[in-house]
Amino acid sequence: MTFEPADRVDQVPPSGIRRFFELAEEMDDIISLGVGEPDFSTPWSAREAAIASLEQGKTSYTANRGKRELRERIADDVAERYDLDYDPDEEVLVTTGASEGVDLAFRALLNPGDKVAVAQPCYVSYKPGVTFAGADVIDVPTRVADDFKLTREVLEDSGAAEADALIFCYPNNPTGATMTEAELRPVAEFAREHDLLVFADEIYSELSYEHDHTSIATLPGMRERTVVFNGFSKAYAMTGLRLGYALAPPEAITAMNRIHQYTMLSAPTTPQYAAIEALDNCESELREMREQYDRRRQLVLSRFDEMGLDCFTAKGAFYAFPECPWDDADAFAEALLEAERVAVVPGSAFGVGGDGHLRVSYATGMSDLKTAMDRIESFLADQ
Ligand code: PMP
Repeated sequence: MTFEPADRVDQVPPSGIRRFFELAEEMDDIISLGVGEPDFSTPWSAREAAIASLEQGKTSYTANRGKRELRERIADDVAERYDLDYDPDEEVLVTTGASEGVDLAFRALLNPGDKVAVAQPCYVSYKPGVTFAGADVIDVPTRVADDFKLTREVLEDSGAAEADALIFCYPNNPTGATMTEAELRPVAEFAREHDLLVFADEIYSELSYEHDHTSIATLPGMRERTVVFNGFSKAYAMTGLRLGYALAPPEAITAMNRIHQYTMLSAPTTPQYAAIEALDNCESELREMREQYDRRRQLVLSRFDEMGLDCFTAKGAFYAFPECPWDDADAFAEALLEAERVAVVPGSAFGVGGDGHLRVSYATGMSDLKTAMDRIESFLADQ
């Protein structure tokens, strides 16, 4: 008897991002523009709410679907932002990060052999998640020519009409692309025409700098076929607290909760108190963080422009996605790390369509960010 990984585990390659973190960890004086998480701490009052709950001994499981009070606040927040009504009892599931929501949706709603159109470049979890659910990926590469927006044309060209489901994420990791309501409309139309389930990862919905975020669930005929994933990691700088949620019609939430109740029981309790406070009272902190990200975004984009590094105008999340001046972006990222101690991630780590690009995260303080830009500039000048 040996510990051979199961076939579905063996099929999945190790994360391309990790390799870079491991390289970077071995070096001193690194400025990492590689990470996908806020550099801010969770707003203090949200931390205090978590601390108070611990002091009061509130350390039991919550309801499987999450504390009702939190589900109500989530439903109110979504109603206020998008004018979308979700029933807190039937249509909201509190999860251990948006990541758990994505995994649950794949496993609860897909059958082996189902096909999932995955818009790429994308967050590294989607394709492995589809594989773990026994379903198959249809690669949908978005294009730099479209500023990495998902278009009807790329859906058609990649055979997504054959899919059972579609997953995408805007504002996007790794490109920073966003989509307006008008741009989402043809995607919604395509999903309706081909009767696709839609998995919309909206974890960066609060970080859209040039226009308001539109949830695809607001478009005609979409709420009933869409599972929305969101959470507290990005907007409220709560990555380590591991709290997210899924919104969907009752049948989908019931199926997802069927797995969640056996595998997770409930999302962690302490962060649920932090999340209630975040939704109730942390709007100004959220706005402040968003303003800071936006200032950094503008700095990064203008510095890249001055350096002659082609980069489309990323409008959301906290990433820029410049074209790599070398043919081999992996080699470029490694050389930049060694020569200048700046870590960026090659776009190939994020699936098809990412090749030839670099993901540069600006979830880093302004002074480090400026130093990193100087170092990149000097690296390019030395070539
Ligand atoms: N979706 C995307 C697009 C992400 O970038 C991330 C985190 N990097 C997640 C989901 C995971 O979020 P959470 O911490 O809520 O699990």
